[in-house]
Amino acid sequence: MIEMIDISKEYKNGHKALKNINIYIEKGEFVFIVGASGAGKSTFIKLLLKEENPTAGKILLDDRDITYLRQREIPYLRRNIGVVFQDFRLLPNKTVYENIAFAMEIIEEHPKNISKQVPMILSMVGLSERANNYPDQLSGGEQQRVALARAIVNKPKFLICDEPTGNLDPKTAQGIMDVLYKINYSGTTIIMATHAKEIVNEAKKRVVILSNGEIVSDQQKGVYDHEN
Ligand code: ADP
Ligand code: ADP
Repeated sequence: MIEMIDISKEYKNGHKALKNINIYIEKGEFVFIVGASGAGKSTFIKLLLKEENPTAGKILLDDRDITYLRQREIPYLRRNIGVVFQDFRLLPNKTVYENIAFAMEIIEEHPKNISKQVPMILSMVGLSERANNYPDQLSGGEQQRVALARAIVNKPKFLICDEPTGNLDPKTAQGIMDVLYKINYSGTTIIMATHAKEIVNEAKKRVVILSNGEIVSDQQKGVYDHEN
């Protein structure tokens, strides 16, 4: 689980990006974080990834306090949390296979596990045929599938997605959502920040609406039908 208790974030310029956030995310949930530009979605995600520290409050990951992790404790977090961004962020000089294998190499997985796991993951995201292509030979949707494969290859408990469909046309975006639902079904907790109302409203999952740094709505099978 992930829990935020009375979390606030004030940037150095005095801007309060998050105000008194309380949220509990159960293992296996799929949660959309929505809200207008500037609402605090990216800040919320940066706190979970430890790219920013909160000004006040507490963050728990599986009952472990991760509010102020030391530098040497951050690998613990990185193993438990996979991440996907709007702009894919693949390594341009590595093939699809190598991009995914690399994520296993940096945690020093046994080569045997790598050569077993990478083809399995490629097949799960529907990219077996593309293993030896480079990112610039792929469509946007295919690149995002590679990014998803890389994010989950080490079997993290949590997958965090920041506008994962933001650069994709609606049909391709739906394909990415189908992969995300499959990943979630296999037990991975997913937290997805997005502007994509159609996707959110079709999904009938939990929807947390941020507005001016506050949670103004948090509903199971929620909808997001107006700008907040
Ligand atoms: P969203 O992802 O919903 O667009 P953000 O979390 O990026 O929202 O931003 C929330 C608010 O905090 C915005 O008003 C933004 O301008 C401000 N903000 C974000 N990052 C910084 C920063 N590094 N320094 C100062 N203000 C920031
Ligand atoms: P996105 O909308 O794609 O989430 P943002 O525009 O919120 O991205 O932020 C892009 C980068 O600029 C982030 O690293 C954020 O921390 C920083 N940033 C955003 N708003 C401000 C701000 N008002 N002052 C300083 N840095 C900011």
